[in-house]
Amino acid sequence: MTSHDALDFIDQEAKREFDSNKRILTFEEYLAVLKENPKKHLRGSAQYLVDMMDHFGKEPVQPLGSTSTTTTAAANQPTATYRFHIFDLPVEGLSPKVVGQEYVQTQIYRALKTFSRQRGNNKLVLLHGPNGSAKTSLVHAMMGGIERYSHEPEGVTYTFNWVFPIERYTKGGIGINTYTAQKEPLTSYAKLPDEEIAVRIQCDLKDHPLLLIPEDQRLGFLEKMLGKKQAAEIWENLSNYLSKGDLCHRCKQIYDALFVANKGDFRKIAMHMQIERFYYAQRYRRGLVTIEPQMHVDAQYHQLTYNKSMASLPATLQGLNLFALTGDLIDGNRGIIEYSDLLKRPVDSFKYLLGACETGSVNIGSAIAYMDVVMLGSTNELQLDAFKEFPDFTSFKARIELIRVPYLLSVSQEQEIYNLQLSQFSAEKHAAPHVAWTAAMWAVLTRLKKPNSINFPPNVSTLVSNLTPLEKAKLYDRGDMPAALSPEERKLLRANLRRLREEYLNVPYYEGRMGASAREIKSILYDAAQNHEFTCLSPLSVLREMEEFVKRVTEYEFLKQDIKDGFHDSAEFINVVRNEYLNKIDREVRDSIGLYDSSQWEDFLKKYVQHISVLLKKEKIKNAITGKLEDPDFALISEFEKIVEAPGHANRDTAKESEELNGFRQNILSQVGAWTLDHKGETIAYASVFPEFWRKMEKHYYESQKSILTKMHDVLLVYGKDEHSAGGESEQEGGRLARKTVENMKSKLGYCDYCAREVITFLLRQRY
Ligand SMILES: [Zn+2]
Ligand SMILES: [Zn+2]
Repeated sequence: MTSHDALDFIDQEAKREFDSNKRILTFEEYLAVLKENPKKHLRGSAQYLVDMMDHFGKEPVQPLGSTSTTTTAAANQPTATYRFHIFDLPVEGLSPKVVGQEYVQTQIYRALKTFSRQRGNNKLVLLHGPNGSAKTSLVHAMMGGIERYSHEPEGVTYTFNWVFPIERYTKGGIGINTYTAQKEPLTSYAKLPDEEIAVRIQCDLKDHPLLLIPEDQRLGFLEKMLGKKQAAEIWENLSNYLSKGDLCHRCKQIYDALFVANKGDFRKIAMHMQIERFYYAQRYRRGLVTIEPQMHVDAQYHQLTYNKSMASLPATLQGLNLFALTGDLIDGNRGIIEYSDLLKRPVDSFKYLLGACETGSVNIGSAIAYMDVVMLGSTNELQLDAFKEFPDFTSFKARIELIRVPYLLSVSQEQEIYNLQLSQFSAEKHAAPHVAWTAAMWAVLTRLKKPNSINFPPNVSTLVSNLTPLEKAKLYDRGDMPAALSPEERKLLRANLRRLREEYLNVPYYEGRMGASAREIKSILYDAAQNHEFTCLSPLSVLREMEEFVKRVTEYEFLKQDIKDGFHDSAEFINVVRNEYLNKIDREVRDSIGLYDSSQWEDFLKKYVQHISVLLKKEKIKNAITGKLEDPDFALISEFEKIVEAPGHANRDTAKESEELNGFRQNILSQVGAWTLDHKGETIAYASVFPEFWRKMEKHYYESQKSILTKMHDVLLVYGKDEHSAGGESEQEGGRLARKTVENMKSKLGYCDYCAREVITFLLRQRY
């Protein structure tokens, strides 16, 4: 292939792509496109956004404490909450993804649907919440979504330009083709090559091509094209912008001039219309505009100076005073305008905005511009509080849709935020396991509020008011129940989870308004990564930075809060997290030493449940090896009941005691039954159904293994001091075991030599 051929190839490919994307259409071609799928091509901006959110997919999520399993029926209920996948996609250079906030996503979606149903975006959607609660990320994800969507076939969207050909097309009058090379007379100038177009005037507002059809003829036109029935259906749902909107001032002037020059012949006017597909682009402010509070020029105009090319305009147009429109409202038309920190602006400046929202138009100079734009704003709670004191607040409120964006209260969601960005914090360091968890756990603890017993029925009130912050955090995350609760109490608390989670939903100081923001936590992680005392970015270095952070009481509002039964105690939460961390690494280190196999316990529990089940049904159990039917294994049952200290286990022969035991067994079976109902199709994880039994088995195990544990301690102490010490035989043996432990931690858990050693020494110092 010669370079010339190669160029040809690119040229042809580019042209094919251009044509297949239908980038440029004549007005007539556009009508054919419109006829093919009128619903898709006659969408207002709100419906376009709704379709965009649907296009990338959504799935229902279960709010905490709801008991019904996910079914299609539940998903269709108006109360369903969704995760929209558009928020999972990274926005280039802005944010990796939006973690959590499904309720907010669903509310944005609903607000847009309402706009579409009401045929106009008559309110400004204001996201409010504490600083750093992902408000901006949510808006950016929407913008990223619309940008992606506009490149898809389903997201195709058009605007128009006016084109005027070079002189030889127009000799002898507008629209009369005298160009000899053409066989057929031209019916449109839209597709002339650039060099044969003298002037192209684009619509500054990127208006919809339907606006080219005069308003009073639009319905009639649709009826002609689609038939009365379909036209009526479309018309009924058409946004006000499309049914009542008119051309912008300049386009109107051009249209009118052409109308006169062509004696009202629409076909001849349409020759100058060039329909162009456009793609949303944040970088070029095409339909996507972010406005910072210090800027307040929303729309203005200035006179056009076309220099030489003005001379190419048809005579009738040369006399016109053409103005160009500029400004944020103009650029953002047909897409999204984001007002960041909306309420930081002077009240008067957004009075005008809300007016524009309500009427769907703005006055520029002496002319009206019709708008079709979704306005999204953000503000923090303090500014919103101040705004609510404003005398005109009620009248403003009618034009604002408030959507609250609180901090996340689920540790695993919060953890995901930091996991996504961990590599940024620790560019030169190894990130030890549990760094993101440590950060997330502390962050969530600082955000929780103590339940108020008066908000709960009497039988639950003690239960909820006894919850510690840590217990509440665990409940919120995965519904994990406090260890000390009886089965009945668990049931009761589980039934009230939703109430607990929503206790402070309707008060100004809601749960998730105060506390550490993800932004603050990231700065803690960043500082921890810089700390030279630690070789790795480890939970211990993060805890150390937290100790420093909580001293900055004057800087952070949440550090000033009164402590209430352990809640809001940011300094103490560091100890809480440290202790939880110790539990985690304790398990990890023990597992890595390989002294016990916890799967045996699971097996033990499982067997116990099987055997009491046949016992209660007075049946026999099939021996797995011989196939014979046998009585349940009373020795196994008795051993288990002794270990978990079942009521009556000590004296199982008296009638009263055996009745107690019977109740204990019945209860276990009904808990297994309830769990199975809630987790259809899953294998039972006995450790999570009966955590209290698990702990008792563990305790029992360690008590029976004391001598091995003592040896393990020695081994680890040796390892902690000097792994190469050439001591006695038992020390050498210890060194080998320690090395094996570190190897396991490295290969199975993601530690490196340094942080494995750090973890072991820390554990020894704290626990052994
Ligand atoms: Zn225009
Ligand atoms: Zn490490």
